Amino acid sequence: MILVIGGAGYIGSHLVKELVKTNEVVVLDNLSTGHRWAIDEKAVFVEGNLGNEKDLESVFTNHKIDAVMHFAANSLVGESVTDPLKYYQNNVAATLTLLQTMMKHHVKKFIFSSTAATYGIPSVDIITEDTATNPINPYGRSKLMIEQILADFASAYDMEYVVLRYFNAAGAYETAEIGECHDPETHLIPIILQHLLGERENISVFGSDYDTADGTCIRDYIHVTDLANAHISALQALLDGSKKTATYNLGNGLGYSVKEVIETCEKVTGKKANVVMADRRAGDPARLVASSDKIHAELGWKAQISLEKIIASAWNWHQNSAKVTN
Ligand code: UDP
Repeated sequence: MILVIGGAGYIGSHLVKELVKTNEVVVLDNLSTGHRWAIDEKAVFVEGNLGNEKDLESVFTNHKIDAVMHFAANSLVGESVTDPLKYYQNNVAATLTLLQTMMKHHVKKFIFSSTAATYGIPSVDIITEDTATNPINPYGRSKLMIEQILADFASAYDMEYVVLRYFNAAGAYETAEIGECHDPETHLIPIILQHLLGERENISVFGSDYDTADGTCIRDYIHVTDLANAHISALQALLDGSKKTATYNLGNGLGYSVKEVIETCEKVTGKKANVVMADRRAGDPARLVASSDKIHAELGWKAQISLEKIIASAWNWHQNSAKVTN
């Protein structure tokens, strides 16, 4: 049985949809930001908190857990700056309680959702796992702290783990049953598509004076199903013992500017966006593009889905989402 913490959230729910095809799955989620409707019906659902020892105890005593995949975290950079306590409490302290419970129950295999935010403002154009980590906000620091804790636990307690550093997750499940559904929504692609559906008046471009070809920020967008498949490869490597510890970037290896993303959304939807230039958003690096060569070489995983297809899947979801969420 695989325990997925945060399986009702955006990335966790897409992972669960793939994982239930080959594994028994139990989801623990407090539904604070995730959605009950997003959890695949083949998974067992337990409502509870990963920082609550009693909730964890009941999951670990009621199910024989072989590995844990941990997606449950707060992930808004701006909020982490104004409310760091929330981030260190939920992302660090609660995860420590989870790791403690795992060790008590002799469960040693762990997959952790980390982030490109651990790199801060990188000094290289293409980020590898060897690029220095230097997070510039409490969100990135909270994720890096768990990465460091995992390395120490591997040395001291034989913990086995794969850390996956996501770049910009986007897109939706192919059937449009689930997709990105945050409140508030802060991510670029859903904001553009909501605007093109008439749900927002315009799109603000946060900064057009960056040191990039068109002056807007460049990001590496990766489809959630590609992300989900990377997790399944990582899980397999832990379960068959071919990996004991590893850290991998997950991206497409291609950078697109904010303007290019808007243009691609216009092309996919056949609609014209009303774009407003705005000030830079605090803490945005000009360029974040991953090399995912390491996971390709070691586990054979590579992103398959292009930006156009990412946006097309998200567009299907946004057109369908009212039916699912109401
Ligand atoms: N962005 C923007 N307008 C928006 C939302 C985002 O210009 O309404 C920009 C943001 O500044 C960044 C890029 O789009 O350069 C991707 O932002 P997002 O929040 O989607 O992901 P992040 O890279 O912050 O994880």
